[in-house]
Amino acid sequence: MGVRWLENCGSAAMHDPKISSGKRSGWFGRSSSHSAEQHVVFLVQPRLVNEPFGDAGLLLDFSFGSRAILFDLGDLTPLPAGTISRIRQAFVSHLHMDHFAGFDRILRFLLNRTADLQIFGPPGLMDAVEAKLRCYTWNLLDETSGDFSIIAAEWDLRDGLARSRFKARNKFGREPLGAVALASPRLLVEPDFHVEAVELDHGIPCLAFAFQESIRVNVRKARLNELDLPTGPWLTTAKQLVRSHADPGAIVKIPGRADMKLGDLLSAKALVTGPGERICYATDLAFTEANQSRLLALAEGSDYLFIEAGFLDEDKAIAASKRHLTALQAGSIAAAARVSRCVPMHFSPRYLGREQLLLDEFQRGLTTGPTTL
Ligand SMILES: [Zn+2]
Ligand SMILES: [Zn+2]
Repeated sequence: MGVRWLENCGSAAMHDPKISSGKRSGWFGRSSSHSAEQHVVFLVQPRLVNEPFGDAGLLLDFSFGSRAILFDLGDLTPLPAGTISRIRQAFVSHLHMDHFAGFDRILRFLLNRTADLQIFGPPGLMDAVEAKLRCYTWNLLDETSGDFSIIAAEWDLRDGLARSRFKARNKFGREPLGAVALASPRLLVEPDFHVEAVELDHGIPCLAFAFQESIRVNVRKARLNELDLPTGPWLTTAKQLVRSHADPGAIVKIPGRADMKLGDLLSAKALVTGPGERICYATDLAFTEANQSRLLALAEGSDYLFIEAGFLDEDKAIAASKRHLTALQAGSIAAAARVSRCVPMHFSPRYLGREQLLLDEFQRGLTTGPTTL
């Protein structure tokens, strides 16, 4: 196929943030187009919250700004308090327990924070958040409490996003904020990135998500050397200027050197820009034609696809009855989408101790592609 998939390196500790090698266990990928570039710092670093037999969940940890985004709120116990405290937005695929039971943990850690938490999800989300908050007694909260709010934003699967606020100072009573019209299925749009969703069929609507970085900014170390410019924190500032579409005349201060204009750094190719990174997350979906074409539209050419791959091919009837993918089907979708890296996840516990079989079938789906199933 002309595609070199990286060797699968076993199974342990796929979610371990200390593993920084490009060859993470359970990660499959094509040779990187960034290998010739140096000092590539992406806007976010994605990593699974749990090991592959655990609940699905993906953390997008921002390289700057002490911020994180979470896809799904299942078991969050592997996330330390410091990581949870950085989460600004959570996106919930559907309201099955293994994708929402972590709401309590995130609430407990954020209760004394002042920054809001936004939660995006499918129809029923606002009622679900309200029901969760009503479980507890809030007599200790009043006007003097920390000004923390949860904003639940519920996509109607078409062009509307209805929102409600739950303020700590109001004992988390529900406060409707009205609906906003969406011109596209982009649930969250910021200058540096957006998050879009697509509805898939899991017997119920289940959302898949794509995080799209607006622009990628890389530093060319060789050009820095030729220009006799040092590395250092000034490069972070310069990259942030580029990301925010600053004027080319903006001044960049370089320690020990004369100030430079941002435009001059760009035209000297010390900083180069390119298409932003795209990270897709898809879990709990039936292997139907409609799901495949919707997911392909979302994931085509992505840098990453995190995808459920829970069942062996011999159990495909069981997977179909539960509206889930097999590992072989997941691999075939990843191949059809021509993603750069893909990570199978959300394995059924029935295969504990037989993880390699799932990884092998996922690899087979990647290799044989979509036409042979
Ligand atoms: Zn489910
Ligand atoms: Zn699930």
